Amino acid sequence: MTFTFVTLFSNLVEGYFNDSILQRAIEKNLFCVKYLNPRDFSLNKHSKVDDTAVGGGAGMVMNPQPLFDALDSLKKEDENVYIVFLTPVAKPFVQNDAKRLSNKSHIAFVSGRYEGIDERVIEKYADEVFSIGDYILTGGELASLVICDAVSRNIDGVLGNSDSLTIESFESSLLEAPSFSKPKCYEGLNVPSEYLKGNHSRIRSLKLALSECKTKFFRPEQLKKHNI
Ligand code: SAM
Repeated sequence: MTFTFVTLFSNLVEGYFNDSILQRAIEKNLFCVKYLNPRDFSLNKHSKVDDTAVGGGAGMVMNPQPLFDALDSLKKEDENVYIVFLTPVAKPFVQNDAKRLSNKSHIAFVSGRYEGIDERVIEKYADEVFSIGDYILTGGELASLVICDAVSRNIDGVLGNSDSLTIESFESSLLEAPSFSKPKCYEGLNVPSEYLKGNHSRIRSLKLALSECKTKFFRPEQLKKHNI
């Protein structure tokens, strides 16, 4: 699988793949990461990629020309590329999207900057458009990384233990039960005693009860959504 980051600031993205699980996945050729800078396609003599908004309004908007040309070149190279735009005015990205997108062969994430991207680019090229939440970031790079990370851990072989995927929060209507590590007692704080007794059916029941409590407290709408 290939991820292409279409961004003016690839250096903001690159570091994320230089360590930990995703670095190892790249070393194992489970996916690769590429970058495409719209500025390299600008026909402006100063390589400008933005301009003031038509009709007025604060700030600069990313011009269509560099992005049209960058995305045309991408599609010419790979006609199966699936183009995702990041914008706060879209449906929120969720875990099911992460799973679904992990079956694509090539995803390109297009990051806006300034006041955003000329809408004609999104209309012409978007296969899908996502927001990562109801707040405004300075650019789409972090949003692209969030989605890329969530998608890539669903690619076969990326996680050491693929069981992790099936028990995590958002796999069902319930959030995951609290996890504990060793030692059993740290600074007077104990792990729940049931976790230590080795009776797996009782541990499962306790975890289910704790999952329900957590979900009721933090995300009650999840329970309502699934009629629990
Ligand atoms: N003027 C835009 C608005 O009010 O909707 C915000 C533009 S924002 C400063 C610049 C870029 O950051 C956007 O084009 C988008 O790519 C990215 N961005 C900001 N917040 C985002 C979010 N919540 N989800 C996804 N992308 C976001």
